[in-house]
Amino acid sequence: MVDMYIIECCRNCPNSLLDLEYVAALVKEVFDAADFNLRQRERLQTDRPLHHQIFRVGIAGCPNSCSQPQIKDFGIQGQLIPQSAEGCVFCGKCVLACPDGAITMTDSGPDINRNMCLNCGICIRKCPSGALRAAGTGFRLLAGGKLGRRPRLATPEPDIADEYQVKEYLSQKLELLLQEGKPGERLGQLLEKINGA
Ligand code: SF4
Ligand code: SF4
Ligand code: SF4
Repeated sequence: MVDMYIIECCRNCPNSLLDLEYVAALVKEVFDAADFNLRQRERLQTDRPLHHQIFRVGIAGCPNSCSQPQIKDFGIQGQLIPQSAEGCVFCGKCVLACPDGAITMTDSGPDINRNMCLNCGICIRKCPSGALRAAGTGFRLLAGGKLGRRPRLATPEPDIADEYQVKEYLSQKLELLLQEGKPGERLGQLLEKINGA
């Protein structure tokens, strides 16, 4: 019997901030713990789900989001939070490297605009002196994306999650769909109905 969910990951990319196989295994554990295949079959009353009836997860190693977590029922993006430290030599490489224009130079070193920064970690890799460091790593979580007749971008969670929160958040969303969703209803439609989000 076919699985009632699909996990799509980036592959073999040097930019990845995540151990993608490990994260995919983590996600699969949540589906198994929820007995998702069986319950989703019962909910939809079919062993042969249509394309839109399969729950889709996108895991992207970084905010470039090549595996398109924004249009999946559940999305995960790798995150690396930059922080400036001692030792800046004022080369300006971080300013030039940031794809989002989030860094400006000041007399005391780089200033990172947190509203613009997507936590991709590129500036850290480009810094020759170690004056930009990782303040933390984690996951950006998104829920409720889809294409189809009425496309919808997934709603991002404001905070960066750890592994435990990934499992908790996905588990909550699966339970919501299994318990409250009408047959054929996607998670995004359900979230809109409940929260308008
Ligand atoms: S999202 Fe990032 S890690 Fe994934 S393929 Fe694209 S650039 Fe590579
Ligand atoms: S982490 Fe990425 S987005 Fe944020 S400041 Fe560095 S290069 Fe720019
Ligand atoms: S790349 Fe590093 S050394 Fe160069 S300006 Fe930025 S923080 Fe300073």
